[in-house]
Amino acid sequence: MNHSNSASNKPIVHMDKVNKYFGSLHVLQDIDLEITPGEVVVIIGASGSGKSTLIRCVNGLEEFQNGHIEVDGNELLPNGKSSKALQTIRTEVGMVFQQFNLFPHLSVRDNVTLAPIKVRRLDRGRATEIANKLLERVGISDQADKYPSQLSGGQQQRVALARALAMEPRLMLFDEPTSALDPEMIGEVLDAMRELANEGMTMMIVTHEMGFAREVADRVIYIHGGQIVEQGSPREVFDNPQHERTQNFLSRVL
Ligand code: ADP
Ligand code: MG
Repeated sequence: MNHSNSASNKPIVHMDKVNKYFGSLHVLQDIDLEITPGEVVVIIGASGSGKSTLIRCVNGLEEFQNGHIEVDGNELLPNGKSSKALQTIRTEVGMVFQQFNLFPHLSVRDNVTLAPIKVRRLDRGRATEIANKLLERVGISDQADKYPSQLSGGQQQRVALARALAMEPRLMLFDEPTSALDPEMIGEVLDAMRELANEGMTMMIVTHEMGFAREVADRVIYIHGGQIVEQGSPREVFDNPQHERTQNFLSRVL
């Protein structure tokens, strides 16, 4: 959600003419993108259009070849030449993937306390306090002593969300967080994300959940062939798409 009275309108994500290649494949083409603090941006597009690559560039999981990316004032340079900024960005940007990627040998609670202890150097007591609060917030405090394999997919994904939030991120990235879930578990994960959006978290979300996008997004971006074809409010993009490609895509998914 956008708070018009927010202290700063300086973008937290700034991408300028970003290009990315996998070999000869031009996967991102002149991407210009600014995201303001508190904004919720949903990225839609067909499989293979570059959605994952785009958000993975924001936390340095993918290198880009030219252009400029700045995240909360930290500059990522092309071809991975920016290791110091990268470390800072990794601690400030949380990510939730399609696959939950929890540590299987750690309890739910220990999954959440690990990074704050190892990276933020919190003592165990303080980290546990924070973890307990976050697990309660995502509705799984009663599962804290279990192992990931003992949880449903929806519960595991909510643990993954709590684990990311434990680092007090300035920005959260989501790459199809509900795509691997059984249908009956999608709602509980979207509910937790909706709550986070309402609390003012800055979020970039790749999703095929168009109803959720319509409800939660401040801005919807449609990408095709590594290019931003169209963007606007959910109303603009869903109800009145300007480009034929957007219209075709939406007619297939809505
Ligand atoms: P989306 O998330 O929209 O489905 P991706 O960002 O995963 O799309 O992929 C964009 C394009 O880049 C696709 O053509 C995909 O095949 C290609 N691609 C993705 N990852 C790699 C990789 N590691 N090596 C080579 N090509 C890749
Ligand atoms: Mg993808």
